[in-house]
Amino acid sequence: MSEKETKPIRWGMVGGGRGSQIGYIHRSAALRDNTFELVTGAFDIDPERGRGFGVDLGLDERRSYPDYRAMFAEESTGADGIEAVSIATPNNTHFEICKAALEHGLHVVCEKPLCFTVAEALELKALAQARGLIVGVTYGYAGHQMIEQARAMVKNGDLGEIRIVNLQFAHGFHSAPVEEQNPSTRWRVDPKFAGPSYVLGDVGTHPLYISEVILPHLKIKRLMCVRQSFVKSRAPLEDNAVTLMEYDNGAIANVWSSAVNAGSMHGQKIRIVGSKASIEWWDERPNQLSYEIQGEPVRILERGMDYLYPQARLDDRIGGGHPEGLFEAWANLYRRFGLAINGSRGLAPEGIENLVFPGIDAGLEGVRWVENCVRSADQGGVWVDYG
Ligand code: NAD
Repeated sequence: MSEKETKPIRWGMVGGGRGSQIGYIHRSAALRDNTFELVTGAFDIDPERGRGFGVDLGLDERRSYPDYRAMFAEESTGADGIEAVSIATPNNTHFEICKAALEHGLHVVCEKPLCFTVAEALELKALAQARGLIVGVTYGYAGHQMIEQARAMVKNGDLGEIRIVNLQFAHGFHSAPVEEQNPSTRWRVDPKFAGPSYVLGDVGTHPLYISEVILPHLKIKRLMCVRQSFVKSRAPLEDNAVTLMEYDNGAIANVWSSAVNAGSMHGQKIRIVGSKASIEWWDERPNQLSYEIQGEPVRILERGMDYLYPQARLDDRIGGGHPEGLFEAWANLYRRFGLAINGSRGLAPEGIENLVFPGIDAGLEGVRWVENCVRSADQGGVWVDYG
């Protein structure tokens, strides 16, 4: 991994304030490689708490804003104004904040789900395209090196023809109604804030995006989904869902999305079965990829080793043997967001066209998938053509 080639991108945050689940990793990832420089923020729904937090982070008090509208109005002009903003607020605010940021000429890194409907996602895409702006979406697990290795293995035919895709993100943290005590969970099970789904959007879209990275040639033809609210008070939102999908090449997939898989820490797994071999990756052991050739002993490929494909080593920071984790994966993605932003204004090095990162289309596809799953589930779990 080479050191930074250009000046850090002047960057702000909306949400991700003190005590939020995901704000810290955004800052850690964006600042890790000097790709971004935090100069402003509207961090909290509570203006005073947000202001104080910004000051504690070292921001100039004038640049720690009570709300994002004031921040965009002030910060999108002038020589030291921001060039990009990250949005780490509850789901119901993503569309309006993302739209406002694009209208102010800012590049955006938005939390998933990008918005609630395909129509909204297409509107954001058109706006970003018209202004030449980048929208990144933080499907953070996709930044792990072994995902790039898996993508290269499929591309090079190591697995043969792809037949079966087995995806899950099934943790157990919400097996009981923890939302009664925990505000970060409370909004997730309220359709007003979470949107049309809970676990499909909150966790299912993560392995879905990874499957899109590894298997870019597979297109979903139709799907069938059933969803349940095992904690009854969460209805109509689901805390468990099972989706079956058929691809246009005849391959089949299943996706288990769950927050009630009691005893499971994260349980995010991607298994891809081809005609010659299979690969399997778990986010709880992200430095390893299991490579299973029919009739041979299982091989465990390790991150950072010379035998990996070059694409998998592009983001390498320290070499094999030293465990990397979610913070490095996110930093890899933020570095790619930065390259894409610089590329959009002619400042990036060669090779930028091969950059793989979750952009506006990844956000759009996540929303489309949830919309299709909900459409199927709400008709009683019927096959629906993917639209
Ligand atoms: P949270 O409830 O823990 O924190 C939300 C933060 O946003 C709080 O600081 C709150 O004060 C602030 N906020 C709310 N409305 C605001 C507004 N209008 N303006 C400014 N700040 C505002 O939520 P969280 O768990 O951190 O989730 C935030 C988002 O991140 C969600 O969309 C969630 O889906 C996503 N998320 C993504 C991942 C991932 O792996 N990519 C993981 C967790 C959460």
